[in-house]
Formats: sequence, structure tokens, C-alpha cells
Amino acid sequence: MDTHLQTELVHHAQANLIAGWAAIPAPVTRASTVLFPNLAALRALDWRHDAQWRYGLHATPISHALAQQLAALEGATQALLQPSGLAAIVNVYQGLLQQGDDVLIPDNAYTPNRDYGAWLARFGISARYYDPLIGADIAQLIQANTRLIWLEAPGSVTMEVPDVRGITQIARARGIYTALDNTWSAGLAFKPFEHGCDISVQALTKYQSGGSDILMGATLTTDTELYLKLKQARMQLGFGVSADDCALVLRGLPSMKVRYAAHEQSALALARWLKTRPEVAAVLHPALPDCPGHAFWKRDFSGSGGLFSVVFDEKYTSAQIDRFVEGLQFFKLGFSWGGALSLALPYDVAPLRTATRWPHRGGLVRFFIGLEDERDLRADLERSMSTHLLG
Ligand SMILES: *Cc1c(COP(=O)(O)O)cnc(C)c1O
Repeated sequence: MDTHLQTELVHHAQANLIAGWAAIPAPVTRASTVLFPNLAALRALDWRHDAQWRYGLHATPISHALAQQLAALEGATQALLQPSGLAAIVNVYQGLLQQGDDVLIPDNAYTPNRDYGAWLARFGISARYYDPLIGADIAQLIQANTRLIWLEAPGSVTMEVPDVRGITQIARARGIYTALDNTWSAGLAFKPFEHGCDISVQALTKYQSGGSDILMGATLTTDTELYLKLKQARMQLGFGVSADDCALVLRGLPSMKVRYAAHEQSALALARWLKTRPEVAAVLHPALPDCPGHAFWKRDFSGSGGLFSVVFDEKYTSAQIDRFVEGLQFFKLGFSWGGALSLALPYDVAPLRTATRWPHRGGLVRFFIGLEDERDLRADLERSMSTHLLG
């Protein structure tokens, strides 16, 4: 039966992990050792099949149930879980690249991903950075040894939305893998496999868990050969996930779509209001026209969630912007996002760019709009702006 996503999020196939047992939550299958009835059963195991239980590190029934549900959510056929979003990114690098290879990374990529590219120089792999708005001109950067192109849609601090299809079409034609960090959309608002991507990466730490208490990541694919490459690397890296953490992510999933919509509604209202404020030079929200790549958001995305950035007028010093951020009552200071609490952080973007010049001179603040009443958040922003952004 062709059901809708929200129904699938609630009615996922998790209840029948233990024969004769029926309850709504999946049983939390904690295990290191997995027991075999005899040696023949142990020796017959095929590492390529997740549900042939071998060892708790590789998969248990609850991690398998979570992986399958995540795959279904994005239209993938297979998913692997890693102990963090960054571990999922590392799994992609380790699964696909070897000495002598080259990788292209967008200039606005999640900073630890950018940094991992540079780290690969130790292993004889080169990383080069590209303008996230490059589109089909990526063709000009491709070398004979280019094996992987990263995309992030949108960049999670500066919010440029890439022309995903423009890039993946070129990559496909040249036999180069594409991996897209899809964390901003939670797999809800953007479907990478409909746009030619080979791998989708999620930090489940964010909206999927929704509780600000879990670290987990996922790599999703539609190609079995690619899946097995990633799986082999995952085994070599020793990446596993805890059954308890899987249970908490599974608890978050049924409400994820409604949470995402609630974050989105408040975030759009606040972004539009911030745009009217004299203190603000630009609102970088993919669903609003100020945001570079907005046309691609409009073409390819069905939603926008709670994360966006604002560039303040250049007349404010970074010390003033810091005081504004610290002066907020409901917006807390901290990395990550996707939970109930609103967050705000100032970023110094210019030093993070190498392929492009950051065009703004004013300070940038990234906001995550939580599940508080939007009117209280607006009053909080207004009060701290009028106290700290004077002149
Ligand atoms: C948070 C985040 C990650 C990493 O997730 P962790 O679980 O914190 O390691 C990767 N990519 C993006 C875009 C993120 O926002």
C-alpha cells in the first residue's frame, strides 16, 4: 500500500523482532556477544547481510530496524549507522578513497568535514575546495584522479544552496561518486537520490533524535556495491552504535516530521521579521530570496526546518554582536541543533573560505529556532538587539 511519509514514520516495521512479542517500542537489543546454536551456523555467516547477526559491533535487531527505517525515509535501499554524523562522513572517505585520489569539497562544508579533507594529505589523498554555487562548472575542476565530490545542501552555516543536479550529472558522466550531507533537511525536505546523488549522509544527532542527547550518523545508498564498500570500511574502522541510542532515535522519528514543520513555521516567521529590522543586512534562509541558491531551494526542496543565519550591519563590532548573542535569554549558546531549545552562535566565516571570498563584512549569527513560542523568541531577539546593537 502506498502510504504517506508521516504514517510510515509512525507505523514502521519494528515490532516483530522477537517472535511472539508485540509492543510499540522496538526491543532494545543490547549485545556485544551474539550466540550461535552451533559452529556451522557461525561459519555460514555472510558479512554482506546485516540481519545475519555476527557481533554487536556490526548490527543488532534494533540497529537494523533503525537503519531500514532511515533508508525508507529517503528512498534509499540500504543504510549504515555510525557513532556520530562526523563518523558517517569519515566512513565515506575511508570507504571510497585510496592513496593518490582526489576529493572536491564545497567551500561552505561543515567545518570538520573540510578539515578531514585536509587531514587526508597524510595518506596521500588531495582535497580541493570549490564554490558551492559552481553548478555544472564543477567539470572544470575534475582531474583524472578525482574520485569523490561532496555536497552539502545547504551549507549549514552560510546556507548557500547548490545546484545538486548540475553537479551530480557531471559526476555521473565521469564515474565520480557524489556524497551529500543532507542533515539540514533531515531527509524530509530534500531527497538526494531523486537528484542523482550516490550517498546521503545524516547526522541523526540533530532532528532525528530531537532530544539533544544522542550522537549518531547514517550513510544511505541505493547501490549495493557502494553499500558494501562503505560497510567494509565501517568494519575496519570499528564503528558501532549502542542499542539504547538506537531506541532513543526510534523514539524521535514518529514526531520528526511534525517537529520539523513546527521549527520551520517559527523560523520562517522570525527570518521574515529579522529581514525588516534595521540592524540586519541579510537573512540567509534558503526559503527566502536573499539566500544564494534560493532558486535551487525552490526547485528541489519541500521544506526548510529551523536553521538559518543572519548577517548584521557592518557598523556593529564583533564585540557588540557577541553581547547581543550572550544577552539572549531563550537562545542558548552551543553547537549542534535539532532539539527543543533555540540556539544562537556567532561565526567568523571569512577565515574558513579558500575557494571563494566571503562577501559580507558584518557579523554572522546562526540561529536554530526551537519549539518555544515564536512570540517569546521574537521579543527576546528584539530586547537583546535594542540593548546591545545601538547606534
Ligand atoms: C552536526 C553535523 C554533522 C556532524 O554530526 P555529529 O553527530 O555532531 O558528529 C555533520 N554535518 C552537518 C551538516 C552537521 O550539522
